[in-house]
Amino acid sequence: MSKKRTALKFKCPNCDSEQLESIETNVVLSSEIATLNEDGDFDYESPLMDGGEIDRFQCFKCSYVLRDSDGKNLTNNEEVVEWVKKNCKQNLIET
Ligand SMILES: [Zn+2]
Repeated sequence: MSKKRTALKFKCPNCDSEQLESIETNVVLSSEIATLNEDGDFDYESPLMDGGEIDRFQCFKCSYVLRDSDGKNLTNNEEVVEWVKKNCKQNLIET
């Protein structure tokens, strides 16, 4: 049996965009070098991301930052869920 999950919808209070992004800092990006070209213009495999701490969640379009009632940036997913439930009108869709 598959577990039913409900997708929430983000809607930016500033510009109505439905695109949300998370901004992370202190990320280590490592890329394996596929070809060590003599001219120094190396070819890379797809990079891997490691570490990283969420600094904030924001609107992809206008950079509106999600904040709690104390004005602090939201930094975890549970807070984002609460925020979206409170601030965005939901037409619940089961996925
Ligand atoms: Zn926006």
